[in-house]
Amino acid sequence: TETYGAGFFRDWLTAAAAAVDREAGRLTELDSAIGDADHGANLQRGFAAVAATLEKEPPATPGAVLTGAGRQLISTVGGASGPLYGTLLRRTGKALGDAERVSRTGLAEALAAGVAAVSRLGGARPGDKTMLDALGPAAEALGDSFAAAREAAEAGALATVPMLARKGRASYLGERSVGHQDPGATSSALLFAALADVAGA
Ligand code: ADP
Ligand code: MG
Ligand code: MG
Repeated sequence: TETYGAGFFRDWLTAAAAAVDREAGRLTELDSAIGDADHGANLQRGFAAVAATLEKEPPATPGAVLTGAGRQLISTVGGASGPLYGTLLRRTGKALGDAERVSRTGLAEALAAGVAAVSRLGGARPGDKTMLDALGPAAEALGDSFAAAREAAEAGALATVPMLARKGRASYLGERSVGHQDPGATSSALLFAALADVAGA
């Protein structure tokens, strides 16, 4: 089976940074409907910092790439999404340990631990209209293939439209949050699309 080294993980996060940059306007537009219109700018700032550091001081293992990026997101993103995505990457990286190379199924297992940590930190469950509605299905589908993970994340983001927000700023809107796609679930779909792209899926 194929395995993935530090370079693959650097390429993933660099592709994610480019996707966030490209889609920042759309993310902010979604956040203006049910939040405070900063999700695009928040992630642009965070992932730009991640990409710059990866280029300057490239870590040697997949785990170190992800934990370093997570730490950087936490320190550079002001909004709720910084600590949440930061925790996702840090916990996932920690679960990978100091392995030089990682299999797709190994990454899927590590991501499941990362997703659980996001849920613990933010107190959200599936169906609460958050990033977890894309991240959870994507991490699970990654056990099957990179393409399945991309599709599950996209479907998960779309599935947030009819949901009532129970966590984060959107929850302040109550019923008025229904009918809008969650910004964080949308950015999570971008991250898994970037992963599938880099894997050639
Ligand atoms: P803020 O709401 O602080 O402005 P962002 O706009 O960057 O932060 O991110 C908002 C996104 O964060 C939401 O769309 C949602 O997906 C996610 N989010 C907010 N609170 C939680 C939570 N408690 N658990 C999981 N995800 C959350
Ligand atoms: Mg916001
Ligand atoms: Mg904000």
